[in-house]
Amino acid sequence: MTTRLLVLDFDGTVTDAEVEGAPYHEGCLEDISLLSGLTLADVRRIAARFEAEVQANPQAHGWVFGGHIVAPATVDPYLRIMPVARHVFDEAGVFLEQTDRNRLLEGLLYKYNYRKTKVAFRDGARETLLSMREQPVFVVTNSHTDAVQHKISILGGGEPADNPLQWLVDRVHGSAQKYVLDMAWGEVPESIALPGLGRPVLLRRRLYAECLNALRLQAGAAWSEVMVVGDIFELDLALPLAMGARVGLIVNDFTPFWEKDFLRDHPRGKLLSSVPEIPTYAGWA
Ligand SMILES: [Mg+2]
Repeated sequence: MTTRLLVLDFDGTVTDAEVEGAPYHEGCLEDISLLSGLTLADVRRIAARFEAEVQANPQAHGWVFGGHIVAPATVDPYLRIMPVARHVFDEAGVFLEQTDRNRLLEGLLYKYNYRKTKVAFRDGARETLLSMREQPVFVVTNSHTDAVQHKISILGGGEPADNPLQWLVDRVHGSAQKYVLDMAWGEVPESIALPGLGRPVLLRRRLYAECLNALRLQAGAAWSEVMVVGDIFELDLALPLAMGARVGLIVNDFTPFWEKDFLRDHPRGKLLSSVPEIPTYAGWA
């Protein structure tokens, strides 16, 4: 099957989210201490206990947005901290009003601490991206466009005029809001069931679908000629898979077993353990 459009998620897919996110996690804990009135030592203790609990029982927790679980809570440091923050706020009895709490956590806490992240790429990222220069490759990310463009510029090296990855810098679509659901949008079923996961994976991510569809039309590709690669099945891949695309999941130590089991057996799915496997899967190498 020809690949006429390859869409890459960025953080955790091309980068090593664990290394990059460590200062983010630390910064969040400090701010949670400030906001909750608890000491940093207390916040660390509560956070460590709660994170262990989430890891032991991953199905019971998730990234809650708009009243629904929209992604697992375990896969990367960005997702892992949010349930921790909610738990600490609950224990401290602060920011109990949900709208304000969401704005504080998903707006401010994320925004200010994301700036503290390091830049750490997965092995082979530079060579792989350079090798795909002539191919229809785009980045669609929940992160802000300029933050991801900055990382790609660093990876390429040099000024914009002679940066060998400038072509990809110009193809970053940020703030994709892959977590936003529109239950009234009827182009895909409401959800799919993954064996081993005790809750549905919700599919109606209209904003993400519109972004992918615009790129698809621009590339003149059928959905079967679209490939999407990401590190969180539920967030990055469930929707494009439902639209008819092929998907690749970059796995790490925190990838839930139900995501791996589901894609291992799926005719349009593949598990990838490294970035250099991507062009091969696309049929370009
Ligand atoms: Mg990611």
